[in-house]
Parts: sequence; C-alpha cells; structure tokens
Amino acid sequence: MAACWCRLFLRSRGRFGLRCCSQKAARHMDSVSRPQDIIYTQEHDSLRDSLRKIIEKKIIPFVDKWEEARAFPAHTIFKILGQAGFLGVNKPIEYGGLGLDFSYNIAVAEELGNIPCGGIPMAIGVQSDMATPALARFGSDELKRQFLTPTIAGDMVACLGVSEVEAGSDVANIKTKAVKHGDDYIINGGKMWITNGCQADWMCLLANTSDGPLHKSKSLICLPMKLPGVQVAKKIDKLGMWSSDTAQIFFEDVRVPRKYLIGEEGMGFTYQMLQFQEERMWAVAAMLAPLQNIIQETIEYTRQRKVFGQPVLHNQTVHFRLAELETEVELVRSLLYRCVAQYIQGNDTTKLASMAKLKAARLVREVTDSCLQFWGGMGFTNEVLVSRLYRDMRLMSIGAGADEVMLSIICKYMGTIPGKN
Ligand SMILES: Cc1cc2nc3c(=O)[nH]c(=O)nc-3n(C[C@H](O)[C@H](O)[C@H](O)COP(=O)(O)OP(=O)(O)OC[C@H]3O[C@@H](n4cnc5c(N)ncnc54)[C@H](O)[C@@H]3O)c2cc1C
Repeated sequence: MAACWCRLFLRSRGRFGLRCCSQKAARHMDSVSRPQDIIYTQEHDSLRDSLRKIIEKKIIPFVDKWEEARAFPAHTIFKILGQAGFLGVNKPIEYGGLGLDFSYNIAVAEELGNIPCGGIPMAIGVQSDMATPALARFGSDELKRQFLTPTIAGDMVACLGVSEVEAGSDVANIKTKAVKHGDDYIINGGKMWITNGCQADWMCLLANTSDGPLHKSKSLICLPMKLPGVQVAKKIDKLGMWSSDTAQIFFEDVRVPRKYLIGEEGMGFTYQMLQFQEERMWAVAAMLAPLQNIIQETIEYTRQRKVFGQPVLHNQTVHFRLAELETEVELVRSLLYRCVAQYIQGNDTTKLASMAKLKAARLVREVTDSCLQFWGGMGFTNEVLVSRLYRDMRLMSIGAGADEVMLSIICKYMGTIPGKN
C-alpha cells in the first residue's frame, strides 16, 4: 500500500505538489478527529489547496464577466486544469490521469464548489466525471488515446449526450439511432440540454444500436462534434447556470467509425447507469461548499443588517433556522462520505448515492430560499451570491435525474414499487 502511495504521488507531484508518503502516518494521526477523515487524508487537503490557488487566480476574478456573457472559455480553463492534473484525478496514469481513487474526485468537486456560481463547476464536472467514466472503464486502448487522453489534458472539451426532447427522466426511451453501415455507424436524431454542447470537441453519445429490449438496445459512442451532419441548433437561454452553455444538437446522417463504440454494443444503458452514480456523488460534493458559503454569508450579512433596532440575526427565528440548515448540511455530508467510502471499496452504492442526491438537491433549494429571505430586497438583486445560487442550484432537483427519479430508484431498492417485487 505504501509503495502504491509513493508511486502515485511521485508521478503526480509535478502537477499538484503533494508530499512524500513517509509523512502519511503522522499526518493521519494529526487529523483523526476530523469528520471528513472517513474518506479524506491530508493528501486530499493538499490537492484541494493546489486547486484553490488556481481557482482564486484563474477563475474567480472572471466569473461575473462570464456570467454576464452567458459562457466561459472552456478550452482555456480546461487546459489550465488539465495541465495541473485536475481533469483526470482517478483516471489511469497511462492516459494522463493521476491514478488516484474516486475520493479524490470528491475532494476536487468540493473545492470547485467554492467557485461563486454553479455553471463553471458543472461544466468542469461534465468533463472530468460525467462524460468520461465509461470511456475510462470500458473503452479500447485506441479510443482512450484518441479521446480520453486529450480530455484529461484539457486539449479537448467533452459533453455528455443522453437527454432528448422526448426523453429526459425516461432515458430508456431515447430515439437517437446509430445504424451499422459497413465499418461505420450512421447516426440520426438529436440531443437536448447538452452542457458544454456549444464548445465541445466530442460527445459521449447514448444511442440505440438495435431494436431489442430497451435496456439492451443502446450503446455509448464517442462522437466527434465537428463532423458533417452534427448541428448545434440552439444555445438554450436558462434561468440559471448562465456561464455554462447548454445546447440542443441535431444529427443528420452523421457517419462515425464503429471502432468509436465504447465497450460492448448493447451495453450503453448499463454503462450510463454506472456513469450516473459517479455523476450524482460528484454533484452532491459540489453542492457542499455553496451550501456552507451561503449560510456563512447570510450570517455575516444578517449580523450587520439592523431591523427594528437589532441585527436581523438576533431574531431567534433567523439563527435557529440557520442552525437547522447547517445541521442538515452536515447530515448530507455524512451520507455522501459514507457512500463514497463504500464506493471506493467496490460496493454498489446506487441506493445511497440516490439518497444523497435527493436530499442535497432538496436542501440546496431550502437553503438558498431561506437565506435569500433573510437578505430582504438585497437578496432579490443580481449583486449578491445568494440570488445567483438561488437560480443556479434550482437545477439540482432536475438534472442528473430528477428528485422523483431518485425516489423511484430508492423505492426499487426498498422493494416498494407495486408489481415489481
Ligand atoms: C442546465 C441543464 C443542463 C443539463 N445538462 C445535461 C447534459 O449535459 N447531458 C444530458 O444528457 N442531459 C442534461 N440535462 C438534462 C437533464 O438531465 C434533464 O433535464 C433531466 O433528466 C430531466 O429530464 P426532462 O427535462 O426531460 O424532464 P422530464 O423527464 O420531462 O420530467 C419532468 C418532471 O417530471 C417529474 N418526474 C419525472 N419522473 C417521474 C416519476 N417517475 N414520477 C413522478 N414524477 C416524475 C419530475 O418532477 C421531472 O422534473 C441538463 C438539463 C439542464 C436543465
């Protein structure tokens, strides 16, 4: 185990500057009392420290400008993050990743949550943890060299093409088809709500490759976005997540080599369901900092804002509410860490991940709504973080599987869906 740590950190030291593993035991002793030690060590902290420096210098100063422009320069930012190793934390070293376990992705997601908007962390998460897990796990060596390596390096921008106009929650019902023609697939159909879709170089596409049973008729395919027949039809105007572009995309007779298939044909639905697990845990982790930051900012604001001759915070209803919300953040954190701890040991965490996603998404709506209320009129302006997060975080109960989809999954595991026991 020690040799493994040494090797990993020596390989990655140049990129985010971790220390030698000989200090690990002592450091661990220092930190045993921290709740996050269920999954984190000081190596995770070092990783976060390095990322924080990049975020503070290269991202935060420009967020307002990018929000206003309704886009951020994905190629530039991904190159910076890729060079530092943050786009392939748990990806294999031979494809440019750091070869660490998934708990490090969670640490990175938590740190990205400190970017003062939802759109940029989400766009980065699509690149690192939503469009690439299946490729890394099931793709051929050739495919990984062509698509995974440049994505981890930040030379290519990736997007994930699952949702369609007629099929968002009901993934099994997608209509996009990839029909075999010699050594190629010919793809027709369209995708909706595609994050990074306006800037992406390739898409991890879910398409029907046969007419068989719905869960066995689909495949994941690496689809280059600059091919003839791929049309980015529209950049969607949204309530929130302004700095992240969201596209509707059409495919008309798009020809793709069959060797761009990820893993086995017909396994796409299964691969995507696995990929969703990492996406959901990642999404929960990325919500923790916004939750805490907004509570903290609200404490500071209400402490200095006076109404009826006393700080807003001094009203018991206000400080009790904030205490309640902070408690719930810690509950979600504990659930996530427990889920991740089980996941990195190789367990099926579908139920726990769905529970964490459900509760985090509901909580972030409660927190942003309650806090916005305590900011009064200021909370209703575009000048404060709380209003941006109120808009951005509303997506969390819809994207990556709506709350009701999470409840359906949990019910399946509980054996309570009528007729399905
Ligand atoms: C900003 C943004 C970015 C996105 N990025 C991507 C991306 O990069 N790639 C991608 O593939 N997709 C992406 N999505 C799509 C997202 O995953 C879908 O919006 C989501 O899965 C819901 O699908 P839908 O919008 O079609 O809603 P629908 O499927 O039409 O569902 C509408 C509502 O019905 C309810 N509902 C659903 N199922 C049930 C049920 N079983 N029981 C009771 N009620 C139910 C829920 O309240 C749900 O919100 C993105 C969406 C947005 C808005």
